Amino acid sequence: MADERAERIAEFVSPLRVGPGTEVRLPEDFDPAHKAGISKKKDGVELLRSGIELLADYQRRLAAQDVYGVLVCLQALDAGGKDGTIRHVMSGVNPQGVRVAGFKVPSQEELDHDYLWRYSRELPRRGEIGIFNRSHYEEVLVVRVHPENLRRQKLPLAARGPDVWERRYREINDWERYLTDNGFRIVKLFLNLSKEEQRVRFLKRIDVPERNWKFSPADVRERARWDDYQRAFSQMLSATSTEWAPWYVIPADRKWFARLCAAAVLAHTLIDIDPQYPQVSDQTRHELAEVRRDLEREAPEGAPADPYAASVAESAKEKKSKKSKNKKNKKNKKNKP
Ligand code: AMP
Ligand code: MG
Repeated sequence: MADERAERIAEFVSPLRVGPGTEVRLPEDFDPAHKAGISKKKDGVELLRSGIELLADYQRRLAAQDVYGVLVCLQALDAGGKDGTIRHVMSGVNPQGVRVAGFKVPSQEELDHDYLWRYSRELPRRGEIGIFNRSHYEEVLVVRVHPENLRRQKLPLAARGPDVWERRYREINDWERYLTDNGFRIVKLFLNLSKEEQRVRFLKRIDVPERNWKFSPADVRERARWDDYQRAFSQMLSATSTEWAPWYVIPADRKWFARLCAAAVLAHTLIDIDPQYPQVSDQTRHELAEVRRDLEREAPEGAPADPYAASVAESAKEKKSKKSKNKKNKKNKKNKP
């Protein structure tokens, strides 16, 4: 059953993955409105609910094992749905095990360091799921589309040449490989929005007063560079989808579908890690049994020696009697003329 589910998830996410070494061309290669055989929103929302439960279970095990960490990198154009994806997909997990970091225009202090410095400071610990709301990929996206950002980075002349983007791709791939080799798995999600859906979402942000704060005139200036961004995203996806950290292109025109895809890709990675609860040694188990005997002896009069074990036995008994009642009812119905 569990394996069947893992297989279904693997099948679901496979068409979203950018094969390492393939040349991606947006918008032709990935349809933002795709919804992979799930025609009804209701079905998608139901699937997401069970996906969220699955994530919560895996996150508990990841934290208990304390060996692996997971870093989720979310990239999208404005209004692509990054915030909502984080809110929904992580809604079931223990907040203590999750760390979210957002990245904006770099500060003076950040510009005083190498470009990966601020991202490495926000990496998750072992046992944690870290989420980057925008990530080190801004360094080959907004910085590439607006070269004045690169000029602000105080790079030595030799590091500012035309090969800077190819070099950054290589450096990012190497950095991610280093992290993966050392127990940190990287999940890269590009929320792929269509230009028309972005227009609709911008208008909603203008029309609904409670959403005005989410809109900035700068967003429209970025929209004017739509084609440049599509090119920068295409080159980034082609150059940095690797065996150890592949990109997933998430169709983002339907929010419910994008969230389902994001949850599925994260679940797929956690299933692959397969974190286990630590096993205690025979010696410890022996000690636990001794302590149990002491605690049982402390039971007040009339109370069960081990109230937890008693309640488990009681609910098992109830379940059994319910089952046999149902069986009898069914039999009676069958025998009725
Ligand atoms: P928001 O996520 O809407 O709050 O916007 C954050 C802004 O910061 C976006 O316009 C990003 O393009 C911009 N930003 C993020 N990282 C960088 C970077 N490394 N250099 C320049 N701008 C950036
Ligand atoms: Mg914004």
